[in-house]
Amino acid sequence: MGARTGQQYIEGLRDGRRIYVNGDLVRDVTDYHGYRGVVRELARHYDRHHDAAFADKLTFASPRDGAPVSNSFLFARDRDSLERRIVGERLRCEQTYGLMGRLPDFLNAWVTDMAAVPHVLGAKDKKFAENAANYYAYCRDNDVCMTHTLLDPHVDRGKGPDAQQGLHIVRESDAGIIVSGARMLSTLAPISDELLVGPFLPRAAGEEAYAVAFATPMAAEGLSFIAREPYDLERSHFDRPLSRRFDEGDAIAVFDNVLIPWERVFVAGDIQAYNTMIVSFPGHVGLQAAIRGTEKLRFMTGLACKLAAVNGRDKMPRYQEMLGELVGYIQIAEGIVVATGNELLRRAAATAAITGDAVDASTSLDIKPGVHPFESFVGGAAMRQFFPHVNTQVCDVIRRIGSSGIVMTPTEADFARPELKDTLEAYVQGPDIAAEQKVQIQKLAWDAVATQFGSRQEHYEIFFSGDPYIVRMMQFMAPERSRCEALVDRLLADPGAPAG
Ligand SMILES: Cc1cc2nc3c(=O)[nH]c(=O)nc-3n(C[C@H](O)[C@H](O)[C@H](O)COP(=O)(O)OP(=O)(O)OC[C@H]3O[C@@H](n4cnc5c(N)ncnc54)[C@H](O)[C@@H]3O)c2cc1C
Repeated sequence: MGARTGQQYIEGLRDGRRIYVNGDLVRDVTDYHGYRGVVRELARHYDRHHDAAFADKLTFASPRDGAPVSNSFLFARDRDSLERRIVGERLRCEQTYGLMGRLPDFLNAWVTDMAAVPHVLGAKDKKFAENAANYYAYCRDNDVCMTHTLLDPHVDRGKGPDAQQGLHIVRESDAGIIVSGARMLSTLAPISDELLVGPFLPRAAGEEAYAVAFATPMAAEGLSFIAREPYDLERSHFDRPLSRRFDEGDAIAVFDNVLIPWERVFVAGDIQAYNTMIVSFPGHVGLQAAIRGTEKLRFMTGLACKLAAVNGRDKMPRYQEMLGELVGYIQIAEGIVVATGNELLRRAAATAAITGDAVDASTSLDIKPGVHPFESFVGGAAMRQFFPHVNTQVCDVIRRIGSSGIVMTPTEADFARPELKDTLEAYVQGPDIAAEQKVQIQKLAWDAVATQFGSRQEHYEIFFSGDPYIVRMMQFMAPERSRCEALVDRLLADPGAPAG
């Protein structure tokens, strides 16, 4: 099939899935208020792959039949393929302002990474590695829109996964595994084609039934989703410029004896494979996350600057300093994209040396089995620390610069009332900017950081790569800390050259 059009994407969603939302059981999400806006946005995303202005930058020829497919499925095997990935991912993130965490690119990178670790998935049984490779090719050639769900529900965090009612294998049959239980939290679940269940926190011996990774269509028999209420209230572009386009939706996935055919199973009870799959990924996911984080930071910084200009704060050194710091972060973020790309090539080469895959292995091999997962992992540190940190900071700057002005904004309907026209112009105008244009920027700022949509965006970035506490504890245990301490030891042991 190759890259899909927007219309093909929309038709694919009409599969009879079961999404509970706001008390409704929705079987056709394309016509549900609250999802219509984001479905239109994703349809545009797919259509760009057929637009002559973009297509070359967004696609590559499928190795299966030469059909153009999204280059978010391209293995980074050398400089050229890496650059092509970066160009495509950057363009797709620019077009969506970095605001879609589950832009299809993210899971496309995930399945690309998953197909690159056959030594992990197939260590006990090669069929699981073959399943991952076949699933990757299926997603690439059919342009499948995926989401994932990695976590047990929150029932009692003081106990293990069975107390959380976590998703687990009930039994196995010749046809596949039968699974029950729940997983959270799936962004984009209401409007994606397939759900990828994967690992995140490690499982312990005795938890084999919970060590499971597979893919399933959203409409599988026995699978339903309970979604949060949509934040898109179908207001105008003026009043809610972001909520109406980019609210991806989040949902819990509930499995009731769902059959997962063997060919879609990647891990079934293998604790070692479950616990090492993600840390063994070459890093296509980390690169995509760095590109999205950078584009979002650029957009949010631009918004902070425009907001400062519409109320005259851009002339005050106090605010210039805040904005300057953000601009500096963008430059660092661009460096992270380069470093993450280089790291991906090195890790891909290291993986190829283990799997016998054909990639350019001339670069140094600094990732080996058994190496601490946070050793030499700039993509991981960027996802877990840098981007959550700078995103929180840019949201804070927008609030400080916007102050009460972003709270008290008239609506589009207020501007339409003739008797309010002069009053609004007099009291709401800014320096060299008419009231209506000023308010449009203030409303954009409010939607970016403070509406339900905006608050969720900030929350999302904080938790994007896991519990911040665990992330920092793992860094505390990383080998880098010993290297830091060794420097101090060396200085203490070395009094320097003798005087005179
Ligand atoms: C807006 C938003 C969107 C998200 N989208 C997605 C998505 O698309 N896909 C996805 O998979 N995730 C998604 N997440 C989840 C995200 O990955 C988690 O929030 C993050 O990993 C932290 O986990 P937690 O929320 O379960 O928090 P917590 O409950 O704080 O879990 C973390 C802590 O609880 C403990 N814990 C965790 N699991 C167990 C367990 N089974 N038994 C005992 N203790 C346990 C651990 O000590 C861990 O440190 C999303 C989160 C948010 C906020």
